[in-house]
Amino acid sequence: MTDSAALLASIPTGLWIDGAFVDAADGGTFAVHDPATGDVLARVADAGEKDALRALDSAVAVQDEWATTAPRTRSMILRAAWEAVIERTEDLALLMTLEMGKALPESRGEVTYGAEFLRWFSEEAVRIQGRYTQSPSGAGRILVTKVPVGPVLAVTPWNFPLAMGTRKIGPALAAGCTVLVKPAEDTPLTMLLLAEIMAGAGLPAGVLSVLPASNAPAVTEPLLADERLRKVTFTGSTRVGKILIEQSARNVLRTSMELGGNAPFVVFDDADIDAAVDGAMAAKMRNGGEACTAANRLIVAESVREEFTEKLTARIAALTVGPGSSDGTNVGPLVNEKQRNNVRSLVDDAVAAGARVRTGGHVIDGPGWFFEPTVLDEVPASARIVREEIFGPVAAITSFVAEQDAVDAANDTEYGLAAYIYTRDLDRALRVSDKIASGMVGVNRGVVSDVAAPFGGVKQSGLGSEGGTEGIDEYLDTKYVAFQ
Ligand code: ADP
Repeated sequence: MTDSAALLASIPTGLWIDGAFVDAADGGTFAVHDPATGDVLARVADAGEKDALRALDSAVAVQDEWATTAPRTRSMILRAAWEAVIERTEDLALLMTLEMGKALPESRGEVTYGAEFLRWFSEEAVRIQGRYTQSPSGAGRILVTKVPVGPVLAVTPWNFPLAMGTRKIGPALAAGCTVLVKPAEDTPLTMLLLAEIMAGAGLPAGVLSVLPASNAPAVTEPLLADERLRKVTFTGSTRVGKILIEQSARNVLRTSMELGGNAPFVVFDDADIDAAVDGAMAAKMRNGGEACTAANRLIVAESVREEFTEKLTARIAALTVGPGSSDGTNVGPLVNEKQRNNVRSLVDDAVAAGARVRTGGHVIDGPGWFFEPTVLDEVPASARIVREEIFGPVAAITSFVAEQDAVDAANDTEYGLAAYIYTRDLDRALRVSDKIASGMVGVNRGVVSDVAAPFGGVKQSGLGSEGGTEGIDEYLDTKYVAFQ
């Protein structure tokens, strides 16, 4: 077991630019807090425009060299980084728990998952494919190759401080792009430690920069305005995604956007109810509900609603809430006061609209940003919780009678990231999967994320895919060479 104080004392707190940890140009710093106590964990350098442009200079300086580094060499560096991250599992896990709040076993799971993007894309780096073909007229030869897009800005969220970084860094580096990461202000420490680990695994200076900032636009705007940057990849809210898409128009940047979700979790009357309850626990309570794939609306067939709700309520009421680093904790605090207030306001609004509280429903008094794991039943369609992302440990249950009504309810949202359906009827599983407008569908499964699968949304949930064989394409441009 790693000791928190010793770990924190060893974590770098500078900006990672050109292979060194450095102070911000103006000497500024900002505090990172423990959401379980409100205490300051560390102060980190606070990047601004000058730092961002220095980092871009260093990325541009090595971009061509990195792009022409043998794919096998890029692959081996990523592979070594995967091994090094796994070796540091306990440190990375504790650090994530300290700065983000999630229970330690969840953080360990994230290290495995997050590291996997380094291994997977080390394997993809040597499999970038082009093609050769002939013009239909027979008059010309067509050679199609893939080239790295160029320097990439990655803006990452706080809910998966490691994995949301590696899911972008892995494919970008594999493709031959340099990367500048702007981690979330709540959780910059994990990314700084990752930079140190990756440098130790042989990543050359300048190829990766990490720019924590208390004011995100102070870093992102000058980078997006600079013609040398060629891509922005973002995971976060739809609101901020739209801002970044607008700002990308100026230099016609490639964009990848993993935005908000409002995942329906549909339980049909023929489902294995115990399996559906297990799935709902994973889809709802994984990461304390702070996941864009989290089941936001549990849409349950009226004939099985009471059985499902009773069983789910018993499981959720039995969860242990506490600091993520304490033994036995299932659910940690929310990441900050703003998130907790948002969860409280969604629950209060639903209750005022007529929802029934089956368990929980309140903020937990005392230090830290805790909220009781909650089940709300009979949630009316007019409640805000049905439309907005909850991002907390709150299960909101509605019901339906006809299959088409469940599909209509599932699709009644501007989002389209993940959806879950529970049924034993294969025809129904395929029929409903086809009709649900989302980028991912879990059938009798409460977790869809998989390094080998394309993760992404439709509608206002985003653009592009991460992971799978598709993930590297986001960092490659297609080039056509015409031959006689
Ligand atoms: P949340 O609301 O869950 O905190 P955000 O979408 O605000 O999610 O944050 C995701 C990431 O986007 C973070 O790294 C954050 O600093 C960054 N961010 C927030 N606002 C902006 C902005 N206006 N421009 C660029 N990045 C931003």
